[in-house]
Amino acid sequence: NTVITAEQIAAGKVAHDLDREHVFHSWQAQGPFDPMTIIKAEGSWIWDGEGNKLLDLSSQLVNTNIGHQHPKVVAAIQAQAADICTIAPQYVNNARSEAARLIAELTPGDLNRIFFTNGGADANEHAIRMARVHTGRHKVLSAYRSYHGGTHLAVNVTGDPRRVASDNASDGVVHFFPAYPYRSYFNSTTEAEETERALRHLEDTIVLEGPSNIAALILESIPGSCGIYVPPTGYMEGVRQLTRKYGIVFIADEVMAGFGRAGKWFAVNHWNVTPDLLTFAKGVNSGYVPLGGVAISDAIFETFRERVYPGGLTYSGHPLASAAVVATINAMKDEGMVENAARLGADIIGPALEELKAKHPSVGDVRGTGCFWAVELVTNRETREPMAPYGGSSPAMAAVTAALKSGGVLPFVNFNRVHVVPPLNISDEDLRAGLAVLDEALTVADGFVDA
Ligand code: PLP
Repeated sequence: NTVITAEQIAAGKVAHDLDREHVFHSWQAQGPFDPMTIIKAEGSWIWDGEGNKLLDLSSQLVNTNIGHQHPKVVAAIQAQAADICTIAPQYVNNARSEAARLIAELTPGDLNRIFFTNGGADANEHAIRMARVHTGRHKVLSAYRSYHGGTHLAVNVTGDPRRVASDNASDGVVHFFPAYPYRSYFNSTTEAEETERALRHLEDTIVLEGPSNIAALILESIPGSCGIYVPPTGYMEGVRQLTRKYGIVFIADEVMAGFGRAGKWFAVNHWNVTPDLLTFAKGVNSGYVPLGGVAISDAIFETFRERVYPGGLTYSGHPLASAAVVATINAMKDEGMVENAARLGADIIGPALEELKAKHPSVGDVRGTGCFWAVELVTNRETREPMAPYGGSSPAMAAVTAALKSGGVLPFVNFNRVHVVPPLNISDEDLRAGLAVLDEALTVADGFVDA
């Protein structure tokens, strides 16, 4: 019931003008871009520049797993700021030590050491560097239809059009086709076939590239911004076996899928797979203060026991960010948020999306787990023609986005997909209301289906 004042709205308009004058935005042509102003946020809700209240089904780029302005996390950041705001990475700090302990406890297997970064991209950069030093090899395998971050090497291993031409063709990166049952690259008709064929393709790629040249394989445990396509049964276990067989470091990118998003602490928990390195960011502290990192296996840690690790960051394990990690993880445990995410996915989101698929001819596929779901829109269910091209937009998707917003939902729409990725502690009532708005928006999408 927050009331937004006329002064807050006026200040928001000033901020918007200043933004257009001086802020250079990510992934945008700067001229036509007209960003939404957010004046305030609380729990699963945000208030836009006009004071309208919107349900945040995007979690701000699938980030605020605990919702906005969790009081315990805000208080922990304030307390840490009053104590000590910053120290260089080579010193010990209570908040960082405790954050590392908590993360090491939660990650599977022997991922017992934590290297802290500023976010997800640099976590992946460092994971690849560790793998290269550890193996003495150079090449890196990565899947198409993946996203690993916007810095040089992270965008190079990314397997979608964000990997712009100027960043291409360097760094020994080799892409393979992922297992993606809805749009199989292997003409599979069943999940079992997809698993078998995708693994055969991966092994062929490894053999043809020369296993003794390949340092690492990096893979999102559940690919997020490229479509939340959950790997079919047996695929992740197969990837783990192949990487073991050929001595390749397996890096699981859990930047988006980790920290409860997929209904378990980490998505790899769905298959009992332990990677050699696991990268994280976002949900680790819900993005309240920037932080990411790499969880490191004992074997890779041994490489660096006597040997210098050639890398580091001034803000590694920043006290304010680390304090936010400790408070976030404790709040998630105390409030049962991971279990809640699993319940919301199984009891509310999954069944509701299946119903929407049955009702709306524009819905080609729905898939996901926990609070991590995608609705893939098509203009023709038979041909599976996407409602917007991969990497692009369309009037149809713009109309769907507008319908969601006018219904009071802040969506995460990517290409031909609407992602349903709410905070893990959204109330059942708010979630149901948001899904009802999605139902209305899909009626708009149905209008773009081939006659
Ligand atoms: N990896 C995955 C799977 C992501 O989804 C993202 C960001 O969305 C990144 C890496 C990059 O993280 P950051 O933007 O914090 O650098």
